[in-house]
Amino acid sequence: MRIIDKPTDYFLKIWPEQPIKDNTVYRPIKYLRKIPNEDGTVVFNILSGEIILLEKGEEKLFSGTQDISDDTVKLLIKKWFLIPQNTDEVEISNKLNWLIENLNSIYTAPKLNSFIILPTTDCNARCFYCYELGRSRINMTMETAKDVLDYIMRKKSDGEIKLHWFGGEPLYNVKVIDYICQELENKGVKFKSHMVSNAYLFNPEMIKRAKKLWRLQKVQITIDGTQEIYNRTKAYIDKDCDNPFEKVLKNIEGLLGNGIQVHIRMNMDMHNIDDLYKLSDYLTDRLKGYDNYFMYPHLLYDSGKKIMKNRDEEYLKQKFYELKAKLEKKDPRKPQYFEITHFKTRCMADTDTTVMILPEGQLGKCEHNTEDQFIGSIYSDKLDMKKIREFKRLAPPLKKCDQCDMRPACIYLTCCPNHKNEICEELDKLIKEQNLDLLVMKVYNFKAKNSQERN
Ligand code: SF4
Ligand code: SF4
Repeated sequence: MRIIDKPTDYFLKIWPEQPIKDNTVYRPIKYLRKIPNEDGTVVFNILSGEIILLEKGEEKLFSGTQDISDDTVKLLIKKWFLIPQNTDEVEISNKLNWLIENLNSIYTAPKLNSFIILPTTDCNARCFYCYELGRSRINMTMETAKDVLDYIMRKKSDGEIKLHWFGGEPLYNVKVIDYICQELENKGVKFKSHMVSNAYLFNPEMIKRAKKLWRLQKVQITIDGTQEIYNRTKAYIDKDCDNPFEKVLKNIEGLLGNGIQVHIRMNMDMHNIDDLYKLSDYLTDRLKGYDNYFMYPHLLYDSGKKIMKNRDEEYLKQKFYELKAKLEKKDPRKPQYFEITHFKTRCMADTDTTVMILPEGQLGKCEHNTEDQFIGSIYSDKLDMKKIREFKRLAPPLKKCDQCDMRPACIYLTCCPNHKNEICEELDKLIKEQNLDLLVMKVYNFKAKNSQERN
């Protein structure tokens, strides 16, 4: 047996080793993903986040007839891979959720290391699915930008901070970005930035500025189809360009060429399934000279959450998973962590060191709540603690989760619209399992390769 990746730091902090009991029959905990490969069986413990490899012939360690005086068996018990025959896993999972929720509800007023800033809620595109459609369009003024800078200087932690430019379309109010970055640089503050943008307004000079002044490391850009579908879906209001698709792709090449990573998100719905497959082939070919981008499909929120009423929706989810799996293989990023929920926090909404700053200086916690649900303002040190706690509340598991061997992987926030009305049909579960297996194997391959390189 080889340990490939240790449990998450958070798990190690909050969960004790399992004591070994004499005269007890042990069996594998059901919260395991077992993935056979050429080396044996890769086993991922969903409860702890640990990955081990059972080498060929070692499967008997999970047979129920293990010798508990054996050192490897003892280790598997201590690490919660094996539990006494009559243990109720649901109780274990409930206890873990309870601990996560209660520990996370303690607000320690830490210094902030991550600022999500909306220079504007206005946008130059009119995507039909935009959840911000109908929202008032507000630009941050330069006076507010100065106050935002003061707020950052007052609240920031020591060391490097992260700025996330979000909108609306952040480039629609680029002078705010220039100003805040320039001032941080003048003050000697270490920072780096990320952005969510449609990339239409970039140009070669701005890309250079983004690299140097904004210290932009990563941009998430949505492309919903090949030329015709993209241009129709985005429906840019500026009419000065015949082919926004080409303009955006040139900008993507410019970003990549300047060493800025690009994450291409492909929103998938019934209307563009086949086209996204074409798009991914087209982009793979066109961007073949770069290794600092990756593509991933995203199920449009409403499509993903409806009850599967017909074969169409089942087909949509299947095609979504197939494309995700296909593109995942090309992802050049180093797998550094698990995106599953035995993390200390789930997203910015329950992370105390992150805050979202709206164009008029209000403070928020969730990208889907930019008009209300504020937790405070840059003009006051007082925070709405009740609201902060509400954002951290965990959603109760579905009834069917009690029988499910994925349960510790499915911890969601009550406030998250992406999980409202969660139903989890058979196919949803299958997709979650397959996504998790892909991630586990990515970490396995990375760790196994690196340990070989070290040897
Ligand atoms: S949400 Fe679905 S996959 Fe997750 S534990 Fe519940 S039934 Fe299982
Ligand atoms: S939408 Fe969900 S995942 Fe995103 S910030 Fe809000 S709560 Fe978190």
